Amino acid sequence: MHRFDSAADALARAILDYALERVRLDPPPLDHPRTAAELTELTGQTITAEGIGGERAFALFTDVLAPATLSVDHPRFWSFVPAAPTEAAVLFDVVVAASGIYGGSWLEGAGAVHAENQALRWLADLAGLPAAAGGVFVSGGTAGNLSALVAARHRWRTRHPARSRERGLIAAASSAHSSVAAAARVMDCDVVSVPADERGRLTGAALAATIDALEPGAPLFAIVATAGSTNAGVVDDLAGAADQAERLGIWFHVDGAYGLAALCAPSARHLFEGIDRADSFIVDPHKWLFTAFDCCALVYRDPAQARAAHTQHAEYLDVLTGADEWNPSDFAHHLSRRPRGLPFWFSLATYGTDAYRDAVESALLLTQATARMVEQAPHLQLVMEPELSVVMFQRDGWSWADYQAWSDQLLADQLGFVVPSSWHGEPVLRLCFINPRTTMADVRAVLETLS
Ligand SMILES: *Cc1c(COP(=O)(O)O)cnc(C)c1O
Repeated sequence: MHRFDSAADALARAILDYALERVRLDPPPLDHPRTAAELTELTGQTITAEGIGGERAFALFTDVLAPATLSVDHPRFWSFVPAAPTEAAVLFDVVVAASGIYGGSWLEGAGAVHAENQALRWLADLAGLPAAAGGVFVSGGTAGNLSALVAARHRWRTRHPARSRERGLIAAASSAHSSVAAAARVMDCDVVSVPADERGRLTGAALAATIDALEPGAPLFAIVATAGSTNAGVVDDLAGAADQAERLGIWFHVDGAYGLAALCAPSARHLFEGIDRADSFIVDPHKWLFTAFDCCALVYRDPAQARAAHTQHAEYLDVLTGADEWNPSDFAHHLSRRPRGLPFWFSLATYGTDAYRDAVESALLLTQATARMVEQAPHLQLVMEPELSVVMFQRDGWSWADYQAWSDQLLADQLGFVVPSSWHGEPVLRLCFINPRTTMADVRAVLETLS
């Protein structure tokens, strides 16, 4: 199984050809999920003592398993936050997989880590962080938020050793992503929820009021602001949040998993005023920066503070931790890691940052044009003016069941993938655009089905 076998050559080429054909499909099939019972029926038992052979396993993937997975990169996939990896990113992911690179330490992965760090530097520069800033690529926003908050609490405990047994408290808006509460559960600390304004934004004033109402000496160690809320795509008052963090001398983390990609778009830059004051931020290149799953960039203003919180110590690691080198494992809750930032780096290096700017701007333009189209439809009501690339609206007279039935039919017809969401307790439709291949004709075709 570890020896090259020329009989396997045809299969190897078929696999690589498939990958190239798939990434070039325009559009790829949207496809749809199936039940576990249906899939078991179709695949039978695939794990056997003798193996079923590569041809058979690959045919099961292409004929049964792949069609039972949605294509997140389909131009009419507008649920959650879609993805649209570039050809360069996808193909380079294949190279990364083949290259046997351990991305946790400089000793083992220097070349890869160097390239990843250049990609992180582009993001740190966009945010206006100092030259000493740096970080690591982790699996996703959930892992990034957790690692940043662990570093935040570690700094607070180091500064207040007498309080290091206290549970700790994070301030975040009611509209913050679910992963912030998940991080607090893992860390066994609490979140004080700051009421968001009517658009779902955290404001400096509401944050100050919530903080001032806490009991004296509350163990508040971090403020989390969101740069692009997942549901509505609105950006918190980052400067106001930074003011409060500064007033209290605590960590300021910005969750930009979806929205901070728009830092590279001049037309949206003003929304992120104050990002340069963050102690840490995250952005998921697997969302709006066009790379393959899974990839979150986590950047710290002062990486030494993250290292103090995260470095693992053991006899077998002394050779790494003693060295004065950049070990990505030191900056998050992980040790072994694939250099998952390399496909992003390769794509950025290939096309250049201007192409990224244009691709992000194209989604912002499409969003504005879609909002105007919704406004013109008498039976559709725009919930709010979009800030980034989410259009939220309602269909007159529809209940939750109507929205769900429409969504199911849209997917059944392979016309698009749009799941309902809710806003202030009311069902809404929410279109999230990131794919530069999406056209106004796509939007029109889907909106027409709502009449
Ligand atoms: C998507 C998202 C996350 C979670 O990121 P994953 O990569 O799915 O773990 C966190 N915060 C925001 C604002 C997001 O949009």
